[in-house]
Amino acid sequence: MKEDATEDQIKSVAEKVETIGARAHISEGDVLTVIGAIGDPEQVAGLELDAAPGVDHVVPISKPYKLSSLQFKKGEKTVVDVDGHKIGGGYFGIIGGPCTVESLDQTIETARVCKDAGVTMLRGGAFKPRTSPYSFQGLGSEGLQILAKAKEETGLPIVTELMSIRDVDEVVEVADVIQVGARNMQNYNLLTEIGRTGKPALLKRGLAGTLEELLMAAEYILKEGTTDVMLCERGIRTYEPATRFTLDILAIPILQGLSHLPVIIDPSHAAGRRDLVPPVSMAAAAAGADGIIVEAHPDPESALCDGPQALPTEEFAEFVEQVNKVAKLIGKTVKEK
Ligand code: PEP
Ligand code: MN
Repeated sequence: MKEDATEDQIKSVAEKVETIGARAHISEGDVLTVIGAIGDPEQVAGLELDAAPGVDHVVPISKPYKLSSLQFKKGEKTVVDVDGHKIGGGYFGIIGGPCTVESLDQTIETARVCKDAGVTMLRGGAFKPRTSPYSFQGLGSEGLQILAKAKEETGLPIVTELMSIRDVDEVVEVADVIQVGARNMQNYNLLTEIGRTGKPALLKRGLAGTLEELLMAAEYILKEGTTDVMLCERGIRTYEPATRFTLDILAIPILQGLSHLPVIIDPSHAAGRRDLVPPVSMAAAAAGADGIIVEAHPDPESALCDGPQALPTEEFAEFVEQVNKVAKLIGKTVKEK
């Protein structure tokens, strides 16, 4: 729509789109309103929307993903902004915290270190996707309450995983950003439900997911009305056993060339080893990532999950400083402490 398009003009275009059984998806940016007409391309073309009052121009999007495509927002990048804590569109963000909420003390201690180090958001899992059903599965509801306290204490937005539709109401109460774990990238019912909450989402690439499949998964969330999804490369399964997963660093420029959504890197799960986390985080920042999500623990040796890849909290501030330096070098805005 044109910059000065009125509410009535926007409404009338959306109604027109719906007359042919297509779906009108209205997305209001800072400057522009974009109406996605999702349906049969020939029928949409037949509406001759170019001539409708308030319409600036019509772009056919031939890619299977529409709402997540770069064209959808005319090249404007999405900034995920939770109460001023920003990631994307030139803002580099660090999401830090424990893999898993284990106790109030461990979580608050880590949260304080993260806050003092200048992270953008706090991560922590209450519902954990574990390979073994006999491993610690997370504190569940109690973990969410601890995360709420950590937010109270630090003011940092909370990023936490939702594994099951069953828990959506509870997670929405506490989460500022809902994480979709790698193993759930193609759990389409879960994605749809997350989209319906309208909350920002952090969508991890599946262990064997292609980039196009990742964008299609984001589409499931966006089509329900959520506008903010962060795409997260966290390593994929290859034949190489030297690291836990193989980090696809090229996913950064490729996804950024295809989508307006922020692209973040998870060095922790890709590497599986803490000594590899700083170099690959700096590489991600240098390659233009919009942020990273990284695990830290006050006592990694005693961590109930992912200890070997957790950065000790005493090293965290220096780590953040180093990564932010690289991000600044390539022109990103980083959070000032
Ligand atoms: C996590 O972030 O702790 C996690 C389980 O990640 P992933 O889904 O990428 O394995
Ligand atoms: Mn983890």
